[in-house]
Amino acid sequence: MDKIQYAVIGSGPASQFTLEGLLSSGVQLDNVIIFEAGGKSDLPKSSKRINFTNLPIKTESRNIQFGGTSNTWSKLCSVLDENEIRLLDKGDNSWKDVYEQLPPIYSELSKKYDFPIISLENQNLFGSEIAFRVRKFETISRTLKNEQIRRMFSRTKLFHKLLFFKKIDGEYVLYFQNLITKEEYNFSCENLVLACGGLENIRILLDSFKGTERSYKVVGKYFTNHPKFRAGKVSFNNYQDVSQFIGFMEKGKSSYHGISLSSEELKSHLNHYVRLEPIYPWTDDFLTSKFIYYMSFSKSFISRIFSRKIFLLSMNEVEKTKEPFNEGNERINITPIFKYFLCRMGLTKPRTSNYYVRNYLEMQATWENNVTINKANKLPSDIIVDYKIGDKEINSFYTLHTKLEDCFNSIGAKYEFPSFDSIEQFSADASHHCGGTIIGSSSKNSVVSANLELHDYKNCFVVGSSVFPSSGSVNPTFTIAALGLRLGRFLGTRKSVS
Ligand SMILES: Cc1cc2nc3c(=O)[nH]c(=O)nc-3n(C[C@H](O)[C@H](O)[C@H](O)COP(=O)(O)OP(=O)(O)OC[C@H]3O[C@@H](n4cnc5c(N)ncnc54)[C@H](O)[C@@H]3O)c2cc1C
Repeated sequence: MDKIQYAVIGSGPASQFTLEGLLSSGVQLDNVIIFEAGGKSDLPKSSKRINFTNLPIKTESRNIQFGGTSNTWSKLCSVLDENEIRLLDKGDNSWKDVYEQLPPIYSELSKKYDFPIISLENQNLFGSEIAFRVRKFETISRTLKNEQIRRMFSRTKLFHKLLFFKKIDGEYVLYFQNLITKEEYNFSCENLVLACGGLENIRILLDSFKGTERSYKVVGKYFTNHPKFRAGKVSFNNYQDVSQFIGFMEKGKSSYHGISLSSEELKSHLNHYVRLEPIYPWTDDFLTSKFIYYMSFSKSFISRIFSRKIFLLSMNEVEKTKEPFNEGNERINITPIFKYFLCRMGLTKPRTSNYYVRNYLEMQATWENNVTINKANKLPSDIIVDYKIGDKEINSFYTLHTKLEDCFNSIGAKYEFPSFDSIEQFSADASHHCGGTIIGSSSKNSVVSANLELHDYKNCFVVGSSVFPSSGSVNPTFTIAALGLRLGRFLGTRKSVS
């Protein structure tokens, strides 16, 4: 049986930054191996299907591929707001303590990799006297520099899927399947780092603890996501420049501002945020939306011409879930697409005073929102995700929209208050799977310590958004990167001390 000092499972951002932390603290590359279930391109959809109840999980929400989900992510980043650090138990400050260590790491990553450092502030909006908290989201051009990716690739074993692990005589024995040859084999390591993405980190722990005495009761609990959907509509009396809330280009990067309740109100509410989507003559048109969807993926000459200037359906993460407003609109009418075409060719941004409101929800982490595995005796087990939007989410949603309505009415704009019955029905997966192996002070309330080490399993670590005890509504990769770098350095320093 082969043996290595550090085995890192997965090659997405969590793994990349852990490796960077390890190497920068003096660990030799030869002492690390990365095992990756995928190859250079993504595995077929059929191999990624997940069972879920209540809210959907998209098959496209994970990439099984070298580089992980960062191959398709939208590169939108922002920082977790202090209001989004929620404690599960009184007196358990582990998550807060970790969060307080992040600002210098955020700024280090920002300098090196161009992650945006964002300040949040209360602002009176749209000329009203009503204050909201405004957070900027900005894209980055890349995650790791090429030279580092090459270095990492040289230590990655592709198509090696970790099925489960056991601790035997103080070492971790990892049980793999080679997805090409279907051969199963094992491998030993001193330090194990699971960096397999939100859901797979949970699956591996559940499969590894299945049937053991020390089964972790909290694994899979406190799962959250960032459901998103359109609800609400505003019509201004006159043209208003609201481009900051739609999406704009600044120094070659795409950005937008999200609107939340004020910091005071966020103490007792979840941090949902909204942004605006302009309504053009073609906005709800089935044919045009298919055309734009196709163009956003096509690298053809014509798409490059079309992507020149106008920001239309951009800034949306890949979302194929059918939206309610498209219902009944599937008849073919070429007028909207023709208008769209003319507008694109003219390269002028059309003006409108009507906007849909796009909502991004923070979910409350609860014991009931959880991930389990099926009872069948096959490995790897199938994952089942069961979670739903609860009273706190709905209450915060009402409060935010009531405030938006007050704000718009105070300036004479017309606000179409959203209907709430349909929140669950129309919520789409944001591919931000958080929680399930959360940080905390003991195995009674959590899975890993503030150092991301499993309680009771020394030298076994989990990194990624699955460790977030609360996820706010912000895109997670920047924080994942910061946690990875911190973990890598912790491991490197601990080795040199010991
Ligand atoms: C369409 C889309 C858009 C997104 N947009 C944004 C965005 O704009 N901003 C943002 O911050 N986040 C975004 N995200 C989320 C972001 O991509 C993820 O949060 C991030 O990639 C997670 O990093 P990770 O390294 O933890 O996991 P992943 O990137 O999922 O990497 C996990 C790796 O582990 C491998 N793996 C899994 N299981 C095993 C196993 N058993 N054995 C071996 N290897 C395994 C996988 O193949 C993969 O390479 C988006 C996600 C999607 C799907």
